[in-house]
Amino acid sequence: MSSNVKIIIVGAGVCGLLTAIQLERANMDYIIVEKARTLSPLGSALSLTSACSYILDQLGLLEEIQKKSKPCAKIDYLRDDLSKVGVMHAHDLMNRYGYSGLLITRPTLYDILLSRIPKEKIHWGKRMVSLRQDEHSVEIECEDNLENEGNAPKVTFKSDILIGADGAYSSVRRNLFQSMQDEGIELPKNDLAPLRFDSNCVIGVTDVLTEEEYPALKEKSGDFYVIIGKEKAIQVYLFTFAENRLGFNICGRMDKPEVHDEKDFLFTDWKPTAADELCEMVRHYKCPFGGTVGDLMDRTPKDRLSKVFLEDKYFSTWYHKRTVLMGDACHKHLPFGGQGANQAILDSVSLVNQLYGIPSNSLSDIGKSFKAHYDYRSPNAKEVFKNTSLVAAILGARGIISDMVRFIALGHLPDFINNAGMDGMNAERPYLCFLPPPPGKGSVPPKPQAVPVHYKGGPTVV
Ligand SMILES: Cc1cc2nc3c(=O)[nH]c(=O)nc-3n(C[C@H](O)[C@H](O)[C@H](O)COP(=O)(O)OP(=O)(O)OC[C@H]3O[C@@H](n4cnc5c(N)ncnc54)[C@H](O)[C@@H]3O)c2cc1C
Repeated sequence: MSSNVKIIIVGAGVCGLLTAIQLERANMDYIIVEKARTLSPLGSALSLTSACSYILDQLGLLEEIQKKSKPCAKIDYLRDDLSKVGVMHAHDLMNRYGYSGLLITRPTLYDILLSRIPKEKIHWGKRMVSLRQDEHSVEIECEDNLENEGNAPKVTFKSDILIGADGAYSSVRRNLFQSMQDEGIELPKNDLAPLRFDSNCVIGVTDVLTEEEYPALKEKSGDFYVIIGKEKAIQVYLFTFAENRLGFNICGRMDKPEVHDEKDFLFTDWKPTAADELCEMVRHYKCPFGGTVGDLMDRTPKDRLSKVFLEDKYFSTWYHKRTVLMGDACHKHLPFGGQGANQAILDSVSLVNQLYGIPSNSLSDIGKSFKAHYDYRSPNAKEVFKNTSLVAAILGARGIISDMVRFIALGHLPDFINNAGMDGMNAERPYLCFLPPPPGKGSVPPKPQAVPVHYKGGPTVV
């Protein structure tokens, strides 16, 4: 089934690309505009939950992703002398939800997603700067030549629906909120509050290493370690990837939190970083794969090392008129719970289901889709957001009481509590209503997904 409704997606991140792949399967008319001139090689690990493998399997992407990733059976929490704090087992995911969790590098996943989207659908090097929407259409203006920032020619794109999948410092969100205020709509205070950063993070992926140097690379399943630094609120995350690479994220709390107006981030990007104070603080830490953490940094090309601020924020306003926000643009999670990409993927499935079969481009039909998507997704996204913030607090606190809490929370809880937590993350396993459901079954059935508002048929193959 196709419809004449035209869609613009702003942002070719995980959320934008997955949405595009699903719109392609739905035979709907869309384009993506992306400010980067090409795919960024930056980024370390993305961990994909069983819930996401469900939709990736339905879309026929899982096999390739499995070949280029490692299943993750557990997370080991260590002190900086490598003594054990606890372990979280994830080996039961396959039995409970039909799929294991996966560890993959961000650029590898992007390569796979990009390969499924026709080249002409992506407009690279277009930074969306403003939007205008009314009864009839939505129009965005983009700067077209990123090399001449401030002096760039402008291009415009027009459509019926605008999807803001442009990340934590979303221009779509900023413009949308401004236009709503101009219309006299009062927004929740928290939605307008500036972003607050109290941590930052250096991430990297090494060159290809040998199994002789790092025997952990031989293992079929992926290793995931979290080292909790003693002196400061520092954590070092270490991963094995397929293709014999190791990855690291070094997260540290800043001495003074910084509050920024969103406009400060207009030109914020994931950029390569030079040697950093954070790196120097942990360089001497022993590495559970052998040698030190510094050795991994030395084996990382400079263009694959980047530094970012960390913030988390849940926005209550996700849509208005013809524009809807998705992924980090409306719920930015801290990386500690590994949920950013997963929540973005779940958003994309829910929205495409609600757009499928939309009979017209009227504000009323679009509004019904957006409302059904929000009603289904927002409670789960908010719950996961709270849990991620709690994990961050547990990992970041220091002192004897915090040590005890970590000891209990990270691996010494009864199975039924651990399982309840896992069920919370994996019970919602949305899939596309218009394709045959994915084959994977587990002992914990998926929660029923929202009824698509416009599509009334059963699953069909397109
Ligand atoms: C380069 C990069 C590396 C990352 N590495 C990691 C990592 O190692 N680990 C981790 O947990 N998370 C990482 N993330 C974040 C992670 O990808 C997201 O938290 C999660 O996948 C949600 O994705 P998203 O699509 O909502 O947002 P994002 O992944 O942030 O994607 C947003 C996209 O929108 C584009 N964009 C932004 N503003 C505009 C604009 N005005 N006009 C047009 N396009 C715009 C951006 O360039 C980007 O491609 C990284 C993000 C980026 C951009």
